[in-house]
Amino acid sequence: MMRKHIFNAGPAALPLEVLEQAQQQFVEYDNLGMSLMEMSHRSKPVERMNEETQQLFMELMGLPPQYKVLFMGGGASTQFALVPLNFLKLGTVGQYILSGSFSEKAYQEAQTIGEAAVLASSKAQKWSRLPDIGNIVLGENTAYVHMTTNNTIEGSQFKVVPDTTDVPLIADMTSDILSRQRDWTKFGLIYAGAQKNLGPAGVTVAIIRDDMLAECAERIPTIFKYSTFASNQSLYNTPPVHSIYVMKLVLEWTKRQGGIEAMEKRNVQKTELLYNTIDNSGGFYRGLVDVADRSIMNVTWRMHDEELEKRFVQEAKGQGFEGLSGHRSVGGLRASAYNAVTVESCQALADFMIDFQKRNG
Ligand SMILES: *Cc1c(COP(=O)(O)O)cnc(C)c1O
Repeated sequence: MMRKHIFNAGPAALPLEVLEQAQQQFVEYDNLGMSLMEMSHRSKPVERMNEETQQLFMELMGLPPQYKVLFMGGGASTQFALVPLNFLKLGTVGQYILSGSFSEKAYQEAQTIGEAAVLASSKAQKWSRLPDIGNIVLGENTAYVHMTTNNTIEGSQFKVVPDTTDVPLIADMTSDILSRQRDWTKFGLIYAGAQKNLGPAGVTVAIIRDDMLAECAERIPTIFKYSTFASNQSLYNTPPVHSIYVMKLVLEWTKRQGGIEAMEKRNVQKTELLYNTIDNSGGFYRGLVDVADRSIMNVTWRMHDEELEKRFVQEAKGQGFEGLSGHRSVGGLRASAYNAVTVESCQALADFMIDFQKRNG
């Protein structure tokens, strides 16, 4: 196999080692005479695998014991609805920080369920920078503050999070969980679809603090309550066992690489290769977001005409680079350099960019 340089935004690259390990265990798991996918989710091997994956999360993130790691379904988009369903009670307001199109989707979904408001927004700037969250003022009736830590489509990322004092802070970390160190204890709830930094699509991780579990709405369907997942070790109904298993392999790989700290260093190094190429191109390539707000996961840029952008993507594809078109809503170009994307792939892309400019500049 000539493995490609995978810059897909999601589903995204997985470590080759992990794919090979998963392949080895695909037909027969752990010498048990059958595949993990054929086992009951109430069987010991699945229970053990599920619990070990939860523990790996706690360990990698250094989470204190008041947090629980849940494995749910439905992707981050389902969390957009579950958050207000569980925590937006009558007479309270969910405050949303709008920094990109996914955060706006979360806000819109909340409006279908209860009262949601915009706490800060950079929509008027077309998401070209992050909104100011330095001096936020929260009313008495605030149920929670919701934010998106990394804006996958636009290519911006919060380095600091707002101080919400005793109001729970809820974050969609789908595209940057485990990519950089953060003070996790600032959050009441963190959620992430797995298919960007954690593993294959199909499982959604929710990390929730005990006091939030006690706040889950009573009169909503059982399967929509975070507390149902928490009190059943995420085995209330059949979980996406295979996706959780591959995620476990990704977590073990992350640990072998040196954990979040090493990932962050590598992600900075990887994206600097691309940002430096953009900044040194004399305007041939132009970044889409303010330098201070740039993401160490999704790098976005444009060229001066769309035909050239198309040719860039096409030629790149011919040389083994996948997934470089910008999101259909913004156009331009995007390289998603999640944890599993190698330094070598980013170096190869930077070299290609320089060469493309020489031939077309
Ligand atoms: C990809 C993404 C989503 C959507 O995730 P699904 O699992 O497809 O619902 C939501 N939020 C962010 C930040 C994303 O990157």
